[in-house]
This record gives sequence, structure tokens and C-alpha cells, in this order.
Amino acid sequence: MATTKKTATKKVAKKAAPSLKFNTAWEYAPALEGTSHVTIAPQYELFIDGKFVKPESGKYFNTINPATEANLSSIAEANAADVDKAVKAARKAYNGAWGKMSGAERAKYIFRISRMIQEKARELCVIETLDGGKPIRESRDIDIPLAANHFFYYAGWADKLDYAFPNRKPTSLGVAGQIIPWNFPLLMAAWKIAPALATGNTVVLKPAETTPLTALKLAEIIQECDLPPGVVNILTGAGATGAALVQHNDINKIAFTGSTEVGKLIQQACAGSSKKLTLELGGKAANIIFEDAPLDQAVEGIINGIFFNQGHVCCAGSRLFVQESVYKTVLRKLKDRMATLIVGNPLDKNTDIGAINSKQQLDTIHKYITIGKKEGAEMYQTDINLPRKGFYCKPTLFTDVAQSSRIAQEEIFGPVLTVQTFRTEDEVIEKANNTPYGLSAGVWTDKGSKIFNLTTKIRAGVVWANTYNKFDPTSPFGGYKESGYGREGGLQGLAGYLHI
Ligand code: NAP
Ligand code: MG
Repeated sequence: MATTKKTATKKVAKKAAPSLKFNTAWEYAPALEGTSHVTIAPQYELFIDGKFVKPESGKYFNTINPATEANLSSIAEANAADVDKAVKAARKAYNGAWGKMSGAERAKYIFRISRMIQEKARELCVIETLDGGKPIRESRDIDIPLAANHFFYYAGWADKLDYAFPNRKPTSLGVAGQIIPWNFPLLMAAWKIAPALATGNTVVLKPAETTPLTALKLAEIIQECDLPPGVVNILTGAGATGAALVQHNDINKIAFTGSTEVGKLIQQACAGSSKKLTLELGGKAANIIFEDAPLDQAVEGIINGIFFNQGHVCCAGSRLFVQESVYKTVLRKLKDRMATLIVGNPLDKNTDIGAINSKQQLDTIHKYITIGKKEGAEMYQTDINLPRKGFYCKPTLFTDVAQSSRIAQEEIFGPVLTVQTFRTEDEVIEKANNTPYGLSAGVWTDKGSKIFNLTTKIRAGVVWANTYNKFDPTSPFGGYKESGYGREGGLQGLAGYLHI
């Protein structure tokens, strides 16, 4: 039903282009994902030493559904005493059975976690969408399958570490403290936990305050998998919980994914200690279209690059550079495509853009939209009605953007795209590199030589060519400059958890 309507809508869109009212002409029939198969407890405790325990702090906070503002569950808030308990449990497990276990045995547990995530995928994706606001299509097709794949991939390395680093004798570090953001909650937990376990470490993980639920579900899975107590501990809380984890003196490694601002604080806190540190921070990716690119495909990639997950993606293609000769065509195609995007209930399988993760993040995005207008850039938003309740933002485009403008320099972390033009390869390389960040970039061209030229000169950890936002557990991911250091994913992702 939904597919038929989609085709119909596309036809109308073609005929009527460039009218911006496609969605009002053809409404999609709602295709809501069910929630009856999902269990969310009214209250969650901390997961320490294999058990769910009440917090020493005695405090709880609420996690809400940003699409409706309804309360989902009450979550324990860990303080420094809870952090200490969790680190002690992790140390005991490291000095005990886990530290002595062979790689082949560790692999069995990690494979089991992967399989359990697959078995519970339908429940996990709905919880991810309820807690974080991302469209069900993404949590179902990207977040949860990739999280399972990460465990599966790293399970395969557990007994092959000597082959990963030939002529070395890699050894584990000990206890890893891991802190993750809210944009890909379960996937970020998998990125952190899977390589740490494969390399023989034990962990204390802190999920983000607004999206703790799938990490707690993962704790239940870990319990069901009979992982020895203390190998994985999950502490919910806010920034102060993360800070207490960073400051704990019996931690060997901190792995952080989040903002550059907090990353800098963590780097300062770890300075002078023996803690190993990897930082996966913010980004301001350039997505570059040359005149010889397949333009329709490129526009689809640009849309995916910035509006995917409401732009809550560290590697979001938030700066578009278009070669001058095709600027008008690309802009028209972009606006036409934006007009067909469906913003609304994240549980609806038709939804392209779900809810912004929190009121605070929505305010940040609005702040930047105001800055963009004040700076003199021209704003374009599609003509749609947003749901009255919940945190939503219209997909937004800025043209006439100066290179020095704040909306072109600072990470907005929302569905806001800036568009600039260029004439030559050298010019666009210079402009693309002119930001403090260096996480990712995209190049759209028919010419292999341009791809090679740009991928070697753009200072970014990942450069996609004629595609965007493609992830795979076998590929390393990480930044240059203020986007952080260290790599996650692939063979390189093992190195951050080993003495080599
Ligand atoms: P954030 O504010 O830096 O928070 C990230 C995590 O750190 C959260 O768990 C947060 O807890 C915790 N935290 C906050 N203050 C802390 C402190 N002083 N010490 C230790 N931990 C602290 O970032 P966010 O807003 O959640 O996430 C968005 C950012 O993450 C963006 O900048 C994005 O680019 C970046 N990101 C990067 C990557 C990458 O791979 N490079 C991937 C995803 C996201 P609370 O949430 O509970 O406050
Ligand atoms: Mg929430």
C-alpha cells in the first residue's frame, strides 16, 4: 500500500515540479510500527557486577520520547560512589576469569551477544526510536543490524590478535571507561564494547542521559548471555557521571564519543595520567558535487547525508559545495527532493525525518538558524506542518553562505544544510579543509582522477566517493584535527584497546 502511494507521489512530483506542495497533494497512509512486543520497565537500576543494583546516589531521572514528550521510564543516576563500585567490579573481573580466558572462549560470548541482538532486533529498534526520536526505518535497517554486526565482526578477531599485529605480542589494557552520545545509542555501545571485549578488557560504559534504554536492554542481554559478572558494567547518568568515570584512577583507557567541547575537557582530565585515550568528536563535513557527477544520484546522497537521522550524525554532510556550472540545476533538484521528505512520527515507516533528540538540541538548531539569517544567508524551508507535540525541525537549506559564516564553520547537529559554490578543484579543497574539524567528506564526480586527488588532499578520516554515510564494521572510522584521534572499527579499532 505504502509502496503504491510512494510511486504515485513521485509521479505527481515529476509533473508538478517545481511546486513545493507534493506532500499536501498526496498524503501517505500511516504505516505505524507496533509497540505491543516491546517491554520498557517503569524503572531501571545500574548494571554493576552482573546485577541490576540501586544507585548509591538514591537519585533517578526520566527518559522521555522526544516525539511525544511522554515519559518512558525512570533511570538510576550513578554518582562517584557508583562509578567506584563499577570500576572495582570491572577490575575484579579483569584480574579473574575474564583476564585469563583464551580468545576463542571470549569469542563465544561475543558471538552470543551478537546473536541475541539479532533475535531481539524488532524490540530493540522500536525502543531506539521511542527513546531517541529517530525514524524506525533507520533504527530497524541501520542501527540495530550494524550493532549486531560489530559484535559479530569483533568476535572473529578475539582469537586472532597475534595475526592482526604480526611479530608483536599484543596484550589487553585492563579496565576501559567508555562514554557515548545519543545519536546512535546501541550502535555506539557496540562500537565501544565489542572491540574492548575481543581484546580481553573489561568495561564500564555510560550511555547518554536522553537515550539510556537500549544500553540497559543490552545489559539484560549480557546477563542472559552469562558473561562473567563485572566484565561489562553499565552506568546511567548525566555529564557528572561521565566526568567521575574519566577521573577514576583505576581506569586504563577512556574511549569517548561526543562533542569536541567535552572531548577537550576529557583530554585535560586525562593529561599526566597513564590512561590511554581515544576521542571521536564533532564534524562539519564537506559534500562536493562536480559538474560531471550523476546529479540525481548526488542530490539523493546529499539529502541522505544531511537529513538522515535529523542531521544528528557526527559525519553529516552539512556543507554542500556545488561546482558553479551546475549550481542552479542542483539547487532546483535539491529543493524538489526536500519537498517530498516526510517529517513526523518516527514510528511511521514512511517517515524520513523524525524527532530532534531533545528540547535542548532543538533550541541549539533554532539558535543556528537565527544566526544564519542574521549573517545574511538566504534560508529555505519546505512548506509543511510539524506535529504540535514533540521536538521537530523542518529540513532547512541556506544559500549565499560566506565561508567565514558561523553556520558554515560550527557543528549544528541538525537538519540544516549550507550551500556554497566553487570553480576549481584547488578552490574546493581549500574551502573543504577550512574548518577546525576533519571527520568525513563526500565527493561526487564521474572522474576517478578527481576522486583520488580529493581523497588524498581533504583532511578527513573518511571520504566517501559517489555515496555517503556508508558504515561497515570492517572499516576504520575516526577524525583529524578537532574531530579527535584514534580509530574505531576494523583491525585498527583493536589497537586502541591493546598494548602492542
Ligand atoms: P556530549 O554532550 O559531548 O555528550 C557525549 C557524552 O558525554 C554523553 O554521554 C554525555 O552525558 C557525556 N558527558 C557530558 N559532559 C561530560 C563530562 N564533562 N565528562 C564526561 N562525560 C561527559 O555530546 P552529545 O551532544 O551527546 O553528542 C553529540 C556530539 O557527539 C556531536 O558533537 C557529534 O559530532 C559527536 N559524535 C561524534 C561521533 C564520532 O564518531 N566522531 C559519533 C557520534 C557523535 P549526557 O548526555 O548524559 O550529558
Ligand atoms: Mg529519551
